[in-house]
Amino acid sequence: MAHKPCIVIIGAGYGGIVTALRLQKELMDNEAEVILVNKHDYHYITTHLHMPAAGTDDVQNARVNITSLIDTQKIRFLKAQVTKIVPEKKRVELEDGHLAYDYAVVALGGEPETFGIPGLKEHAFFIRSINSVQLIREHIEYQFARYKQEPHRHDYVTFVVGGAGFTGIEFLGELADRIPKLCASFGVDAQHVRVINVEASGSALPGFDPGLVEYGMDVLRRKGVTFRFGVPVKQCNADHIVLANDEVIPCSTVIWTGGVRGNRLVEDMGFDSIRARVKVDEFLRVPAYPEMTVIGDSSIVFSEDGKPLPPTAQLAIAQADALAVNLVAQLRGQPLRTFQYKSKGTVASLGKGEAIGIVAKYKVKGSVAAVLKKVIDLRYLYIIGGIPLVLRKGNFS
Ligand SMILES: Cc1cc2nc3c(=O)[nH]c(=O)nc-3n(C[C@H](O)[C@H](O)[C@H](O)COP(=O)(O)OP(=O)(O)OC[C@H]3O[C@@H](n4cnc5c(N)ncnc54)[C@H](O)[C@@H]3O)c2cc1C
Repeated sequence: MAHKPCIVIIGAGYGGIVTALRLQKELMDNEAEVILVNKHDYHYITTHLHMPAAGTDDVQNARVNITSLIDTQKIRFLKAQVTKIVPEKKRVELEDGHLAYDYAVVALGGEPETFGIPGLKEHAFFIRSINSVQLIREHIEYQFARYKQEPHRHDYVTFVVGGAGFTGIEFLGELADRIPKLCASFGVDAQHVRVINVEASGSALPGFDPGLVEYGMDVLRRKGVTFRFGVPVKQCNADHIVLANDEVIPCSTVIWTGGVRGNRLVEDMGFDSIRARVKVDEFLRVPAYPEMTVIGDSSIVFSEDGKPLPPTAQLAIAQADALAVNLVAQLRGQPLRTFQYKSKGTVASLGKGEAIGIVAKYKVKGSVAAVLKKVIDLRYLYIIGGIPLVLRKGNFS
């Protein structure tokens, strides 16, 4: 019997799940065996995580069982922690076993970039998974309870968000919306609560439309956020941070959103990369190992003018779409298509009813942008789970 090629998709985040769904649709029976490996049995909607982290949405709305999304007759799902990938042997090491592949799709996502700032790894929180956002939410609530007991400890109710990129700004909007509710339930005077955004560069959302950025910052300022730009964090401790100008901010909560780097497992393979994001070729393949593709936050691709594209869900989905088409073509001996990316635009939420963005070259802000943001979120749910998932997990409020 002829050997049936085995495609192993490593990671079931945005890139991995969309690749699996596309292959499920396109491949004919017996064309290939497809195995999807992920360390959890659920897919999480990362672009929602800032909401449960701040406590403005239920964490359950950000997680979906993987087997409810895929056809398990066509895609084999394996809940397993990948410990190593050995491209020379076409082998994926798991905590308890291994998998051999003919084609590997590495979609392991990214990790927080801490730039070696002392204390960040130990003391800061990161918005990156279901577990991490549950921890953040509980920690914030606990600080209010502690402050009630020790009202001289203003550090308990000082919340520092490091980084003013999209994740930081979106989280600030949610946190600022939650503070009045927390003050009411814990009986804390809102005047004592501080939400501070610290950003090394000179503005929020560097590279984004300056008028929209100004609008967004005004919205957040009105909700009580203070901005500190142009001063990098030098050190993070359990109850204070130190800025580059030696200013000390007493705070018991630092949420770090300062950047993303590729997954450690991908970095360990030693490929040519920038911040552990692998430089893939025009077919999203690793140049030395054409049977291996890397997509999503662990890959780096460049725009037509040579600038690295920021790691986004939108990019990971576009890569997954293109890659699935090429995998099918490769199995059928057809020519491959080069990956070309056209951004559909970007919308950043600023909390309830407010957002800023550029969609199809049009600038949008306020409630119109907020509605668009919801449409984008619902569209993703539709892509991976159709109308039933939209109805089950969609946020229409
Ligand atoms: C709060 C927040 C808001 C965001 N908002 C937006 C937005 O509005 N628009 C946008 O386009 N992008 C947004 N992003 C970025 C977007 O979420 C990422 O770019 C996207 O998730 C990358 O997809 P991926 O497939 O590379 O990785 P992920 O979606 O992170 O998936 C990686 C998968 O690999 C699994 N995995 C990791 N390690 C292992 C292992 N060792 N073994 C097995 N499985 C493993 C993980 O469990 C996960 O399922 C946001 C990110 C955050 C954090």
